[in-house]
Amino acid sequence: MGNNNKYNKTLNVQEGINQPSSINNESISKFKQIKKKSLTADEYVKAIISGDITILSKAITIIESSLAEHQELAKDIITKCLKYSGKSLRIGITGVPGVGKSTFIEAIGKYVTSFGKKLAVLAIDPSSDISKGSILGDKTRMEELSIDSFAYIRPSPAAGNLGGVARKTRESVILCEAAGFDVIFIETVGVGQSEIAVHSMVDFFLLLMLSGAGDELQGIKRGIMEMADLIVINKADGDNLQKANSAKIQYENALHLFPPNDSGWIPKVQTCSAINKIDIDKIWDIINSYFKLIESNDYYRKNRLNQSLYWMKQTINEDLKNNFYSNEVIKAKIIELENSVINNQLSSIEAAKILINLYFKK
Ligand code: GDP
Repeated sequence: MGNNNKYNKTLNVQEGINQPSSINNESISKFKQIKKKSLTADEYVKAIISGDITILSKAITIIESSLAEHQELAKDIITKCLKYSGKSLRIGITGVPGVGKSTFIEAIGKYVTSFGKKLAVLAIDPSSDISKGSILGDKTRMEELSIDSFAYIRPSPAAGNLGGVARKTRESVILCEAAGFDVIFIETVGVGQSEIAVHSMVDFFLLLMLSGAGDELQGIKRGIMEMADLIVINKADGDNLQKANSAKIQYENALHLFPPNDSGWIPKVQTCSAINKIDIDKIWDIINSYFKLIESNDYYRKNRLNQSLYWMKQTINEDLKNNFYSNEVIKAKIIELENSVINNQLSSIEAAKILINLYFKK
């Protein structure tokens, strides 16, 4: 009995405290309920503007989802985030594979976060269904930045056509801005149409090049060079230094031949060694002077308005197209008309007209 009393005493001492096991059971089941419960748009927005990166990532996944219910939720989240967005420096970075994009983003990214600025790195890689997303946004390629608490790296949305992938990236930019990111890099691979999409969603467009290889070797089209606000000649180190310096002069001369930029900015050329982190500061200075100029001459605001209108039209085009091709009446008729075109019974224009009239029930 004596022993029992002692035991009871001990129990009495603990009386005011909840039983640990029941606390755990209760909180675990509550946690499970919270986890299971999907968040509302308002809950997403609240978490995003408080800088919750886990929720930001989830919201971007919803943007990327093709499920109709996710698309509705995504629209709601984006619309509600819009008023908190728009304040970052949006910078597009392009260049052919191997030029050093990820090394460069790692170097300049670490430089940017060293000032306490928050940086998001997004990507557009419409070929990622083929490359399995290995070209861009691969976290392992940016080892230092991927563990930097001031940086957030998000790989390119997976498979999809360029229009869709680009729109998702643009919408992700809005969420990143609402989450308080000061600088947003959008990386793309410099070989095709994706630069045009990136150019239409950034304030500043940076083209990475190598010395020693002609433009044609680097697969860079004249149109892409024309869009550049800054050409960076990377790998200006070791035996390559001299070549990089003469390439700088050549590119400067080439840029003079292009029509002047709407922004009033004269595009610049700068060499750097991303791997040795040399002259990264000069590049950031150039970017800063660009932003000073476009804020003072109001191009920053005007350009973004124009971009919004461009994206409004792009979205209409995409939505109409998707709606058209998923329409049951069209789906039923299109194969028959395709055959007629192939067999020369109908011209392509006539076939298109029939389908469009059918769609609009004319
Ligand atoms: P990306 O395909 O454009 O992202 O290029 P990466 O950043 O993966 O770089 C391709 C290769 O170039 C890697 O082996 C890098 O180490 C190398 N590289 C990148 N920057 C430099 C540089 O500044 N100097 C030198 N010498 N090599 C570099």
